[in-house]
Amino acid sequence: MTRVLIAGFKHETNTFCRQPADMNAYRARALLLGDDVAKSMRNTRTEIAAFLDFCTTEGWEVRHPIHANAMPSGPVTQAMHEYVRDHILESLRTEGPFDALLLCLHGAMACEHTEDGEGELLAAIREQIGPDVPIAATLDLHANVTDRMAELADILVPYRTYPHIDQYEVATVAAGLIKRTLAGTIKPKTTVRRGAMLDGADHGRTTTQGPMTDVLASADRLLVRPDVLAAGVCAGFPWADTHDTGPTALIVGDGDTGEHGALADALVQEIWDKRHISTIQTLGIEEAMARVKQARPGNKPIVLADFADNPGGGGYGDGTRLLKGMLDANLANAAFGTIYDPGAAELCRDNGLGAIVHLDLGGRTDPAYGAPLSVRCTVKAVTNGQFRMEGPMTAGLQVDMGTTAVVTTDGIDVVVTSRRFQVYDQMFFRHARIDPLLKNVVAVKSAHHFRAAFQPIAAEVLVVDGGGGLTSRNYRELTYEKVRRPVYPLDLD
Ligand SMILES: [Zn+2]
Repeated sequence: MTRVLIAGFKHETNTFCRQPADMNAYRARALLLGDDVAKSMRNTRTEIAAFLDFCTTEGWEVRHPIHANAMPSGPVTQAMHEYVRDHILESLRTEGPFDALLLCLHGAMACEHTEDGEGELLAAIREQIGPDVPIAATLDLHANVTDRMAELADILVPYRTYPHIDQYEVATVAAGLIKRTLAGTIKPKTTVRRGAMLDGADHGRTTTQGPMTDVLASADRLLVRPDVLAAGVCAGFPWADTHDTGPTALIVGDGDTGEHGALADALVQEIWDKRHISTIQTLGIEEAMARVKQARPGNKPIVLADFADNPGGGGYGDGTRLLKGMLDANLANAAFGTIYDPGAAELCRDNGLGAIVHLDLGGRTDPAYGAPLSVRCTVKAVTNGQFRMEGPMTAGLQVDMGTTAVVTTDGIDVVVTSRRFQVYDQMFFRHARIDPLLKNVVAVKSAHHFRAAFQPIAAEVLVVDGGGGLTSRNYRELTYEKVRRPVYPLDLD
């Protein structure tokens, strides 16, 4: 019987963020061991669910020692990295031997002790299982793929959509390649190439035709070659000061014909040639407020994205600049999701529904990104912050934001949470009985993922970059010391 180990260890590391990804950070999102991995992840639109389903269909025996995922933040602590690594190594030692490994990774994990978290993990695994047991790993579209990762894993398959709505599908592709490998019909080997860029392919956006959809189409054309099993493109995660930060092209070849490097280089060249093209326009806060006020009221909300403080890219999630702009603009019938402020959420809970409270809201982690807002508000709802995503992204996945309150101040319902989350599902509002469709304006802490759930209900989407946030696009405001130079846009052009 074929025996497969499934494990997940994800993190997108914003090395400029001062909050570490420690055990608490993983517990706040997902730290699942043994049977709980399958219990929690089955029937979700995720990689782990796809791996489990694939193995069930094939009749393969599986072990899943651990799945760990934390919100993007500062580096993963060494203790956390070793904790996950050791659970996997322990399973390999005591529950093996295994015929193959299916791993759910991100690809942009930096740690306290290494800037290549995935390479470090794969090296430890290879040391234990040797070179012959095939490893397939899925990656986020925003991975910063290192040469070491490509050397140590046989198969690397990144997402192809941003918003990431194809996690289940890419994991199925990766598992399918493992099946063919075990059948002896292919011998996969991954080749990676990167360009002299921090960021590329329009940051990977696939919601409109642009550099990313173009380069993916070029990658797909390579699949007519019998020696190309998969061709992927990662846009890179630019808020990471690591040597290999930046976009990459990945060719999973059948064996090494010596030509796969050139194929990947051509994809990288295409990303380079279109480095100036952006399919989104960001607005300053005042400009955005003026646009909102000019808009004619309709039966759909205007959706504002708080681009510069996106917890999904390592933003603190308690930046107050956009919320302050909305309050100053006296917007009526608006909702804001979310502000991370456990103290404020608890205070609201303790005072109870209907209470009038004075809050110094948000701005706690680094007031440079918007100081605490002194507001007088009414507690409109208190929840335990738990719900399941409705999708399209990661539908079915359980969320636990901890104690959560909705406060109303000057016509704006603000969702205040005890944990940091990117708002890419309507349930962040709906679980607290806020219907985004009934609002004139809905603001979300998200850069792009929100589009999966909110674009269909939006009269208009405005992407607001208030500047100064940890996920603002002005890379020149950050101090890069480790990234290879020269690199666009810091040096080139
Ligand atoms: Zn991503």
